[in-house]
Amino acid sequence: MSEDFKTRDGSAWMPDYLTAIDGATCIGCGRCYKVCSRDVMHLYGVDDEGAILGICDEDEDDDFDGELNRMIMVVDKAGACIGCGACSRVCPKGCQTHVPAAALAA
Ligand code: SF4
Ligand code: SF4
Repeated sequence: MSEDFKTRDGSAWMPDYLTAIDGATCIGCGRCYKVCSRDVMHLYGVDDEGAILGICDEDEDDDFDGELNRMIMVVDKAGACIGCGACSRVCPKGCQTHVPAAALAA
């Protein structure tokens, strides 16, 4: 399966897909979101127990009726990832899980 992936010049290329972000470690800095061209992840609010309250609207300052404790990045469109690896290079917390395409296909 891995030989199916190539760069434009035909060189071997192994996509490294983002599959998860550890919500306990993520600080919601947004760096991964800014570099991703595929809209794979979004900021969500979580309460004191770490339960997800909902997606954060970029245009509104929603505190989820006072329940908001902090914000974390959630991989909510994993299927859109092209495995470029840009998000892993900018994450300051090492809280992302990436899986090579060959491992997912196996
Ligand atoms: S690997 Fe690339 S496409 Fe996938 S989530 Fe990260 S930045 Fe987006
Ligand atoms: S770059 Fe890392 S710490 Fe920052 S929001 Fe993304 S996953 Fe979380």
